Order: sequence, then structure tokens, then C-alpha cells
Amino acid sequence: EKHVYKFGVGSADGDKTLKELLGGKGANLAEMSSIGLPVPPGFTITTEACNYYSSHGSEWPKGLKEQVKKGVHFIEDIMKTNLGDSEHPLLLSVRSGAAVSMPGMMDTVLNLGLNDTSVEALASHTNNERFAYDSYRRFIDMFGNVVMGIPHEKFEHALESLKSEKGAELDTDLNKQDLKELVNRYKAVYRKATGYMFPTDPFEQLEWAINAVFKSWDSDRAIKYRQINHITGLLGTGVNVQAMVYGNMGDDCATGVCFTRNPSTGENKLYGEFLVNAQGEDVVAGIRTPKDITELKEVMPKAYNELLDWGKELEKHYGNMQDIEFTIQKGTLYILQTRNGKRTGHSAIKIATDMVAEGLIDERHAVKNLVEPNHLDQLLHPQIDADTVKEKSVIGVGLAASPGAAVGKVVFDSEKAEEAALKDDPVILVRIETSPEDVGGMSAAEGILTSRGGMTSHAAVVARGWGKPCVAGCSDIIIDYENLSFTNGKITVHEGDWISIDGARGTVIEGRKDVIKPELDENYKTFMSWVDQFRDMNVRTNADTKEDASRARDFGAEGIGLCRTEHMFFGEDRIRAIRRMIISDSFENRKDALATLLPYQKADFKEIFKSMDNLPVTIRLLDPPLHEFLPEEKEDIEIVAKELGIKPSVFAQKVRSLREFNPMLGHRGCRLGITYPEITQMQTRAILEAAIELKNEGYTLFPEIMIPLVGTPQEFRSQKLVIDRTAKDVFEELGDSIDYKVGTMIEIPRAALVAGQIAKDAEFFSFGTNDLTQMTFGYSRDDAGKFLGEYLKEGILQEDPFQVLDTEGVGQLVEMATKKGREQKPALKVGICGEHGGEPHSVTFCYQQGLNYVSCSPFRVPVARLAAAQAAL
Ligand code: ADP
Ligand code: MG
Ligand code: MG
Repeated sequence: EKHVYKFGVGSADGDKTLKELLGGKGANLAEMSSIGLPVPPGFTITTEACNYYSSHGSEWPKGLKEQVKKGVHFIEDIMKTNLGDSEHPLLLSVRSGAAVSMPGMMDTVLNLGLNDTSVEALASHTNNERFAYDSYRRFIDMFGNVVMGIPHEKFEHALESLKSEKGAELDTDLNKQDLKELVNRYKAVYRKATGYMFPTDPFEQLEWAINAVFKSWDSDRAIKYRQINHITGLLGTGVNVQAMVYGNMGDDCATGVCFTRNPSTGENKLYGEFLVNAQGEDVVAGIRTPKDITELKEVMPKAYNELLDWGKELEKHYGNMQDIEFTIQKGTLYILQTRNGKRTGHSAIKIATDMVAEGLIDERHAVKNLVEPNHLDQLLHPQIDADTVKEKSVIGVGLAASPGAAVGKVVFDSEKAEEAALKDDPVILVRIETSPEDVGGMSAAEGILTSRGGMTSHAAVVARGWGKPCVAGCSDIIIDYENLSFTNGKITVHEGDWISIDGARGTVIEGRKDVIKPELDENYKTFMSWVDQFRDMNVRTNADTKEDASRARDFGAEGIGLCRTEHMFFGEDRIRAIRRMIISDSFENRKDALATLLPYQKADFKEIFKSMDNLPVTIRLLDPPLHEFLPEEKEDIEIVAKELGIKPSVFAQKVRSLREFNPMLGHRGCRLGITYPEITQMQTRAILEAAIELKNEGYTLFPEIMIPLVGTPQEFRSQKLVIDRTAKDVFEELGDSIDYKVGTMIEIPRAALVAGQIAKDAEFFSFGTNDLTQMTFGYSRDDAGKFLGEYLKEGILQEDPFQVLDTEGVGQLVEMATKKGREQKPALKVGICGEHGGEPHSVTFCYQQGLNYVSCSPFRVPVARLAAAQAAL
């Protein structure tokens, strides 16, 4: 069995398609080697071998040892020198790398192969004793730390005390004699910490290092990282063993990292940094401040131009912007790593459109690979001008929980936030964590900052739902509710002070920063036009107001998939009418009360229809339990009773009688329409009268009436009957008619099970996946926050099912209902209108199930468009 894949200049056993087997780093090293890039030769041990090691009590699979030896010989042949050679020793780097990039995995060991003899050989061969001993002490440090788990500080400590003994300020002030002494002290640290002598046999060193990489796959921090990031299904990590090249041989040497284009602006220009006379880890460790890559052009023009050329070559080859690691040895450039570079939403769009214009990629490739749906999320929200933010004004960094920038004065409780909002005072609500009690304040605030909680904490979930900026779990700050302040230890912020938060980056910034309004530039428009070219599933929006509807239309919505009517009942005069309806004891009184609501509803529908001229609009009939329209507190009950002109005690009794133990499963949805058909009649009338009037004004409308919370075909039929009869009446009265459809939400598991029967009468289905998830899992949406966090942390759930559609369980119901529905009625229109309609993974699933459309909140419309296009490609 093949456990080892070799790569050398001009050829390789593997290629970039073998990420699963070789890890991302290994696969790309192979790819780069075969297309002729200057990559030091080496080999990759497969992730399968790592998997074997984990599952066989730390044993190597048969043949691995021989293959590793052969691999080393392969490197030796190319480098024309041997591991442990007494004249010109070969040194190796040992690097981990799984299919998915994973910080938390093992760090790299450089300079492997050094011992007391080979260090002398290295010194005389390179005629650079200082370099040789510097490499040796780095190796003992790295090997000790990475392989044996000795805290790096112990070595650092030894270094510091030697430096102070010698009066040296910088590491580079130590002379070669000092470095020799340092090596001895490092060996002593090693011996003291492990009880062993530092291993001298290079092959033994290599075996140890390989084992350490294997083991790191199962380390606590790697397991944790995979859990948190939902990385599953990988075999293990690859191990890359590679000839060393030296960036620390002198001032004609360097090491660095760069992007082929600017990752935050997208500008087509190398972007990165480098250090002269240094090895890889120095750049990250921040011992010296690296230089801007443009300066490399002056110091090492030849290497710089090569880097530029190879960068272009790699871009062309991968069809993507690259993130490159390189080392320059005595003026010669070596490439040590490449991968697709991470970037901001703005630059993603620019890079995609630029690369198409430059002829490097085609439109299809750009849509499929260069922009992630979540990039668009960033693009559509206001952002803080990053250039204006000074590092020292950053108070803390938390989770980028909900994109967008917000600027306001700090308040620590919801009531104050609400008060401030009434005065049009912008505030940021700062809480240790939030709970449903805070929603008033959260909604009033410009943005939300919490010091505790994750991406699915209450604050994060609610804020995302509203498109409101939120930084969650910012543990850099400590909040003191008593003194109304918070601090990061240096900066203390008091109630009323201005702060700015950037929900796309997770940063909390002191003071009042400038906000850049989202600007959907030409590049964006061009890119989205390509997106729509490849998309065949429709994207609609969930909108209850004409403002939301027209914004969504600007974002590309192709109709409304869910217009909730209950929000229309909350305005001043309307709430009184609906309350009158609720307390009415007789049918006649109820009808009267509803009659006063009719013109309001009709006017609302007209506005919404107008903004969706030529597009379908799905209107859902009244859904929530009636008590949601009634006051709860005693004082409020008295006020409302007075308004309604009834005795407070009678009203209080009515309120009590409407209270339910489990309102989510109570008297709501079509159950209301069945017990009070006059509600359905009024709403149907409002919809159809509005539609006909507009039709006569020249609009083209496609009204769709949606019955909520259906669980049996009989429920559906009974409501449809009411709707159709009302329609007939309206049409006769007006002497005019309009086409309309009647369909249902599928949000109760039973409805999915009997979907075939429901489809006999229904003209469309729309999956209400919020309720469907709630009822399938039996998790109350309003209470799940209490345990979901723990579930996610423990890996009991991989994702929050209210955010990402549970394709395994809830998805089966979606699949079944779609299939049964279409068997009954092939032309059945099927869509989804839950939160999931704008979540990329869920959109992909909906596409695979053959849904006609997804419907989501306005800001997610572009996200859904891209996700739908990518699903189709
Ligand atoms: P990471 O995955 O953390 O980036 P790498 O395996 O890429 O770890 O190694 C980190 C750095 O170590 C590289 O960027 C490079 O500077 C240095 N390095 C790795 N292999 C070699 C090598 N063969 N020669 C010289 N430097 C190397
Ligand atoms: Mg790297
Ligand atoms: Mg519902």
C-alpha cells in the first residue's frame, strides 16, 4: 500500500485533487512541484496512515517505515547530500496539514537532522558558524516544544538570561560563541523537562516528529477545534517531510508570506510581508517587525520578480487569488506553500470580476468559486472604515456574530436602550449576555455587544435575524453592571460614552467612528448578473411592509414568499379593533370589529402588492394565538379595558381565559380561522379587493393565500372553502375577478406525512421550517437557548437547527412532502419560507429537493441568489 507520495522539482506522485489523502498543504506542494515551481523536494505521508496510527494504538501501518526511508533517499538524491552527513548534512522540515486548514494542529519542526556533529559540518560547509548554531538552538526549541510538549517559555527563559548575562539586546547581538552556549543550555532544559538526552540520531528524530504530527490529530485542542468548526469526516492529517531551505543564512536571505492580491481591497498587487535573515516562525512570532513586501523589490529585485511571476502563474493555475509562503536563500526564491487566500466580501467581488476581465477565469468559475455567499452578507451592511481605526483604540475583539457597523452611546440595560430610542439617541446595548427579556432593548439599540456566549447565543441569533450588528462573546472586556462601566484593563468605558462595533470583524472600538454605507458598485452588479445566469431556483423574500418589500426587490427578490399579516395589527387604531374583535361575544360584534380592520388590511396589501408588481405575493392568514394581542400587566389591562369601554374585571377575566399553557401548540394558525371563519373572510376580502382595485390601475398581480399550521387535509379544505366562497362574493359584488391561488404552509410534521392528500386541494406548499424544526425536534424555539449552546459545545448537535436546516431529520420531511405532493399534483409549487431560506447550506438542500423557490429576509436575498446558483453549478 502506498503511504508516501513524493514531490520534487518538475514532478510529483500526487496533485491538487488529492486533498483528502494528502492534506491541503501536501496536495498543493505536489501540484506546485509538477508545474515546475521552485519547491524544495519532499514527501507527504497520507492521512490514511495517520488514521491507521490513531486506530491501532500508535503503530505505523506496514511498509510505512520503509517508504519513509525511501522518501528520505529520494530527497537526498535530489539534494545530493544525506541526512546526518558529516560534511554537508541535509536538514528537513516536518509539517502537518489536513484537508481543511486547522490551526490547533501540530506546529512545524524546522532544521531536523541537526546534532553535535552535523552542526559542525553545517558550520564549515556554509562557512557560517553563527547560522549553524542559530539553526541548532531553534531546532532544539521547536523539537522540545512541538514534539515533547516542553513549554516554549522555558527555552525563551534560557535565552533571556543568557542575553542579560552577555548584555545583548537583540537575539542577533549574540555571537557564535554565545549561541554554542545557548545550545548547551537548551539541551539542559530539554533533559530536565523530559528526563532524556536530546536525540542525536536524525532518523530517530524524524520518527519522533512524524509521530508527534500523527498524535496532534487527536490532541484535545485539535478535537475541540474540529468540533467547534463542524469539521467531520476527515481521516487525519498528512505529514509533509521536506528539504530545508534557509532564510537565515545572511542578509541575502529572507522569509515571508504574501497574497497575490490585496485581501481587503482586492487591488491587483502583491500584498504581504517579509523578514530578512530569518526563519519561518519569526514572522509569526512577532520578534521583529516584518517589512512590507513592496520593499523586497528594492532589497532582492530578482527574487521579488520571481515571486511576482510565480504568483501570476499560481493564480492562473488555481483560478483564484493565492496566499503564498516563501523563503529566499542566498537570493534564490523557494515557494513553501500556496492556498486560496481568505478575503473580505468587497475584495471577493472585485477579485472575481477583475479575474474574469483579465481572462484568467470565466464567469461560471467566478460564480462557483470566487465569492462565498456569506461574503455578500458583509457587503450589504454598513461597515466601519478600517483605515480610520487605530490599533490602540480597539477595546476588544469578540465573535463576528452579526455583520454591520454600529455607533452609539453605551447603555447596560434594555429599558434605558428603549428610552434612548424614543429620543432618537443611538445606543449600543452592552450586556454580559442577553435573554428574551432584552429584545425590546436589543431592537431599540443600534448594535449589541456581549461579553459571553457564542455564535448561537441569544444575542447573536436575534441580531442576525434582524440584520442588526452584533459582537458576541467578547471576553476581552469585563462588564460591571453596578458601576455602569466596562473595561479591558486599559480602557474603561462608562454609560453614555460613545463606542463603535464592527459585527463583521468582531471588533469593539473606542469612540465614534465613521461608517461607510454599503455601496453596491458596478462590480457587484456585474457579478450578480452572472449569478442569475446560472441560477434556476427562484428567490423570494419574507416581507410584511412595503419598505421591506421594495428593499428586497432592489436586492433581487422575485416575489414575496411570506407576508405575515399579524404585524399589520399592531398599529395604534388597529390593535384596538382587533382587541374588540377578540373580546366580542357574538358573531355580529366580531364582524363589526373586523369590518373596521378591513380598510387597514386592504391598504397595507395594496402597498405591498404595488411594490411587487408583476411578481407573486404569498400572504399568510393570521397565525399567532390571540392573547398576543392582549395586554399582560394589570395596569395595562385596566387602561385597555377603559379604551374598549368594558369593565376591567370582565376584561381581565377574558385575558385570563385566553391564556394558554403551551401557546405554540395552542389556539393559533388555521385553528383560529376554523373557529372564527370571519377572520379568514375579512382577510381574503382585503386581499382580493386590494388586488382587483390595483389590477384596474394597471398592475399585474399574483396573489397567493396561504393557510398556516395545517395538520390535516380537512383543516385545509375547510379554510379553502371559506376563501373560495368569499372570493365568489367579492367577485360578484365588484363584477370583476382576479386569479388567485390557495396553498398551505407545511410546518407540522403530520402535514408532511399526509402531504399527498393535502395536495389534492392545495395549489402550493411552503415549508415553514421554523415551526417544522421546532415541532420535529420538540425544541421550543423560545427556550432552546438554554441548552443549545451546550449541545453545540458537546457536539451533540453539529449546527443550530434553527439556523441551518437539519437535512437528516427535518429534511426528510421536506423531501417526503415534496415528493408526495408532486405525485398527487405534478405542477404543485413548492417553496420554503423559514429562516433557513437564506442560509447557504439549507438553500443547497432546497435546490437538491427540487423546490421552486426559497424565501428569506431582504438582506439575505443576494446570499440566497448566490447559494442557489452555486448549488446549480
Ligand atoms: P503552518 O501550517 O502553520 O503555516 P508550515 O508547515 O507552513 O506551518 O510552516 C510554517 C513556516 O515554516 C513556513 O511558512 C516556512 O516559513 C517554514 N518552513 C516550513 N518548511 C520549510 C522548509 N522546508 N524550509 C524552510 N522553511 C520552512
Ligand atoms: Mg504555512
Ligand atoms: Mg409557523
